[in-house]
Amino acid sequence: MPAAKSSQPFHPILRSLRRAPPSYWQDGQVPSSPNQSAFSFALTNRLEDTCTPAGEQHAANGGGFQGRTGTITTPHGEIQTPAFIAVGTKATVKAVLPEAMQDLGAQALLANAYHLYLQPGADIIDDAGGLGRFMNWSGPTFTDSGGFQVMSLGSGFKKVINMDAAETTGEEGTDDRVAAGKERLAHIDDDGVWFKSHLNGDRHRFTPEVSMQVQHQLGADIMFAFDELTTLLNSRGYQEMSLERTRLWAERCIAEHFRLTDERVGKPYQALFGVIQGAQYEDLRRKASRDLGGMNFDGFGIGGALEKENLGTIVRWCTEELPEDKPRHLLGISEPDDIFTAIENGADTFDCVSPTRVARTSAFYTPQGRLNLSNARFKRDFGPLVDGCDCYACAHYSRAYIHHLFRAKEMVSATLVSIHNERFVVKMVDDARLALDAGTFFEFKEETLGQYYQASPLPSGFR
Ligand SMILES: [Zn+2]
Repeated sequence: MPAAKSSQPFHPILRSLRRAPPSYWQDGQVPSSPNQSAFSFALTNRLEDTCTPAGEQHAANGGGFQGRTGTITTPHGEIQTPAFIAVGTKATVKAVLPEAMQDLGAQALLANAYHLYLQPGADIIDDAGGLGRFMNWSGPTFTDSGGFQVMSLGSGFKKVINMDAAETTGEEGTDDRVAAGKERLAHIDDDGVWFKSHLNGDRHRFTPEVSMQVQHQLGADIMFAFDELTTLLNSRGYQEMSLERTRLWAERCIAEHFRLTDERVGKPYQALFGVIQGAQYEDLRRKASRDLGGMNFDGFGIGGALEKENLGTIVRWCTEELPEDKPRHLLGISEPDDIFTAIENGADTFDCVSPTRVARTSAFYTPQGRLNLSNARFKRDFGPLVDGCDCYACAHYSRAYIHHLFRAKEMVSATLVSIHNERFVVKMVDDARLALDAGTFFEFKEETLGQYYQASPLPSGFR
């Protein structure tokens, strides 16, 4: 089957990447599982049908809008899309109990396979009955493949892939660049990646098969195929080679995923999403979307280190090519304007660490922009974080009290602001979904972003 679905490789070097399909993947047969029907996506409305974007909106977007509403059904419940997926990297949303996440309307949580593989170990989570049971979250869960962490460790960039060439070392114009002052902790080859644990320096091997085995043990409803994440600093030739590597890895992930699905009898079905890479190149993004779109994935992730200004365009290139009847997840976005960009260009779900990350630095979201609670002006402000906010923190606590907690370095400060920030983003996405169905999406977007960025425009380059 791979021969029929694949395109010609771009680069002579890719010939070395060709390998025989796994023996359990018979010629002409697409691997599948009877359990796959436990996961589904149903489309409700298309943005282009409910709303009439003005001509200038089309022009600004560079093309049509792929946005839609729908329902993802998983063995642990439904997700109404578009949906914001809260991040619980190490099987916890930092400083917030799962019960509080449920109360504030979070529909699903995303944890990280790389972190949980290193600590506590995927086998322990398997023995506990899977990620949801381990962390006392009964709703749908996602795990990302670990590719992002492994690769970003490879560049020494940690959580954010730094695109600034001036802050890297290594020979200019080559693909061997790492962040200044950082050690390369990962080395990639055609079969997988060697990496050193950031915890204790132990050496580990991730391959597509290992990533699938780890993610099956973690037991999330939605998993991602193991992919190579490149940076925008990589050469065009490297991007082409890497994309082919990710395509071949996608085939191996599917084969291993269905082998494990058959082997692990009685476990709830886990959906597998292929990850679309291709950096900032339109032809590569479209090719990757067609290649992976033709494989038997349950949905798709749109990955890669993206520049904020190109986010919508790149998502649209992918969603125009991907099958309409499967959900798409945009991996790792940051701020409210990104959310609207993601929704209108056809991302059904997206995850974001910002609500809790900025909360720990005492920043809280308001409809008029982000404010910093450490500021002395909140010392005697006995109102809620945001008037009219329906979150637990705003219902029971004042700005003055939480300001005091931050000054006193009390841990519950991060809890209260994280609850507020998570609720703020969840509600914004819920409202965007309702507006899309009601035919008022563009008005809602204009009003929301107009207010949010009026007082505090986003610093350039902030992610
Ligand atoms: Zn609130």
